[in-house]
Amino acid sequence: MTCAPTTRCAKSGWKSRRGSKPRGASIIGTRYELQGTVAVVTLDDPPVNCLGFDVRKGIVEGIERARADASVEAIVLIGAGNTFSAGADIREFNTPKATAEPALRTVIRIVEESSKPVTAAIGGICVGGGLELALGCHFRVVRHDATVALPEVKLGLIPGAGGTQRLPRAIGVEAAVNMIVSGASVTAGKFAGTALFDALIEDDLLDGALAFARSAGRRAQKRLRDMKIDFPEAEAFFQFARNIVGPANRNLPAPLKCIDAVAAAVSRPFDEGLQLERDIFVQLMQSTQSRALRHAFFAERAAAKIPDVRDDTPARTIGSVAVIGAGTMGGGIAMNFLAAGIPVTMLEAKADALDKGVATIRSNFEASRKKGKLAAERLQQAMVLLKPTLSYDDIQSADLVIEAVFEDMTVKQDVFRKLDAVMKEGAILATNTSTLDVDRIASVTRRPQDVLGMHFFSPANVMKLLELVRADRTGSDVLITAMRLARKIGKTAVVSRVCDGFIGNRMLEQYLRQAFFLLEEGASPKQVDGALEAFGMAMGPFRMSDLAGNDIGWHIRKRRYVERPHVVYSRIADRLCELGRFGQKVGVGWYRYESGSRNAIADPIVDEMIATYRAEHGMTPRKIEATEIVERCIYALVNEAARLLDEGIAQRASDIDVVYLTGYGFPRYRGGPLFHADTIGLYNVVERMQRFARASLSDPGFWQPAPLLAKLAAESKTFNG
Ligand code: NAD
Repeated sequence: MTCAPTTRCAKSGWKSRRGSKPRGASIIGTRYELQGTVAVVTLDDPPVNCLGFDVRKGIVEGIERARADASVEAIVLIGAGNTFSAGADIREFNTPKATAEPALRTVIRIVEESSKPVTAAIGGICVGGGLELALGCHFRVVRHDATVALPEVKLGLIPGAGGTQRLPRAIGVEAAVNMIVSGASVTAGKFAGTALFDALIEDDLLDGALAFARSAGRRAQKRLRDMKIDFPEAEAFFQFARNIVGPANRNLPAPLKCIDAVAAAVSRPFDEGLQLERDIFVQLMQSTQSRALRHAFFAERAAAKIPDVRDDTPARTIGSVAVIGAGTMGGGIAMNFLAAGIPVTMLEAKADALDKGVATIRSNFEASRKKGKLAAERLQQAMVLLKPTLSYDDIQSADLVIEAVFEDMTVKQDVFRKLDAVMKEGAILATNTSTLDVDRIASVTRRPQDVLGMHFFSPANVMKLLELVRADRTGSDVLITAMRLARKIGKTAVVSRVCDGFIGNRMLEQYLRQAFFLLEEGASPKQVDGALEAFGMAMGPFRMSDLAGNDIGWHIRKRRYVERPHVVYSRIADRLCELGRFGQKVGVGWYRYESGSRNAIADPIVDEMIATYRAEHGMTPRKIEATEIVERCIYALVNEAARLLDEGIAQRASDIDVVYLTGYGFPRYRGGPLFHADTIGLYNVVERMQRFARASLSDPGFWQPAPLLAKLAAESKTFNG
């Protein structure tokens, strides 16, 4: 029987077998066929042959079938398409199928115990469970393009199917510790000469694997589990590794546990090591940190889905981009597209600002080149794609234009009127406003369906987050186009509806209000920053404001004072701005900075300013514990997030977590503000808020729980359900 690819195989690029007439059959998720005396079991689950239930079952059935067929002398395990396997099937996570037998460990045991030698034929991606499966085979042959990794640590886990026991036997202890603790991908070529690979296949992977397997059929089986590790300096090495890894991962147990598991591969018999690995894996699965990291992983994937917009909505083609404004944001935004090979025309109002903007882009690219992150020729290519201009005539053919001028409604509306007049039909018109009403900006054009907010974060060439602000009349195709483009330039996009500050900055407003109240009540900037940084925030609120520029917040607050006279604002940050202390860019802010350094040094002038402010307002400072600082600032975020959800500004709770994880330095091992609140228990969060309300001198009303939060707490539910 010839083995024609099934539709699924054809989609995944699976090629028809050549050579002698194969006899074959397909089981869902795998294919089985005979090539002479070799049975070929093909993992076939597009796009990357994950090891879901059907694939696992199919492998076991394939091995059994080969065992029962007297004509079979050897078995080849290969992946359909160009890849071996990307490991566990995330679609099965948290479902009974994930642990249903045959579990991966069982599959690997059956493969390893097979009386007929099994050769893994590895091309493309071979990671996680995929690599563990390959390690359980008797032989491994590899194509030059293959990459291998055990990335479980990134989800707060260790490899759970023998990876920590077999990999050190294959590549040595030090290399295995590096790979498992970092989770990094390594190209197969790096392991030439180790027991990881038995042969490098230059041409067709299957042909090479078949030739190898035929000769392997006559060889003794080789099992990594039977190899002894000879590593006399083990004790000293593991101590050294723990000394490095421990302090670098203070809040993450998994990296140190990886070392424990590899250490067991050296010190214990194989089966005992395997059991220890299993015990650690199960323990970590239940840890808050791993749950948070897995939540973050799924949340980022979910963010790309827009519930009322079909995934197959056709996107518009974006072959060129125009950016209006060559300031801090305009330059950073342009860099994203240039680095992705998309031409950018950058328009400014003034020639000197334009020259300065171009020079900044070049020097930022230069800095990346010096750090080895960008090749010299890529820098040149990127700069060739940049066209500076002072004329709207030069941008009219762009497919997308992103406005990044001053944060002022009149200025922005004026720009959009011009864009409406000159841009070609079908061009997408985006604004990078941080706070302004995108509907009002769209309203000055005759094409509001083409307008949306693309809110980048500073530095725009570095920060992962991109808020896509969906105005009332933004077209579905415009939204989908922006979502796909975000992926192309390496951003994580989250959809927000229109409101003052969108998701991230609207929550930040409440966070900062608490931070300022804490200063009034007795804390210092250093104390507040210290408490929140110990909690895990990349930067406390005062160091962050100094970095962003205190004048930016001041400018926004002045508008809010007028628009929201009923809100109680501390004016302490305004005092700082009145002293011209705009932050790092002027060398003084909440801290002082020595020339050329970003080190925040506490400044007695600021302490004095705060003391004067308190005295003028009749406030007696008190000692404030770190726990109170953290709870007040973080629960302020949580309460506002609940309002955003209730109002439909955010699509889902996990999107809000993504915004804080990718744009505001919230610790990933805490999963985002709402996952964190779920972990604490919403009842407990509300109870603390009520206590803060009773004690608050600044604004007791602040702590009124948002209706959604109160409801979920009362029903003992969670945000992330
Ligand atoms: P910026 O002052 O650094 O740059 C603005 C630039 O726009 C200046 O170079 C100015 O000459 C130019 N400009 C002003 N009016 C113009 C016009 N009519 N036509 C062409 N160019 C004009 O400001 P920025 O920090 O880059 O902020 C730009 C926008 O991005 C604002 O809406 C801001 O709210 C938003 N944003 C800023 C940050 C941030 O951290 N800086 C973060 C996210 C979003």
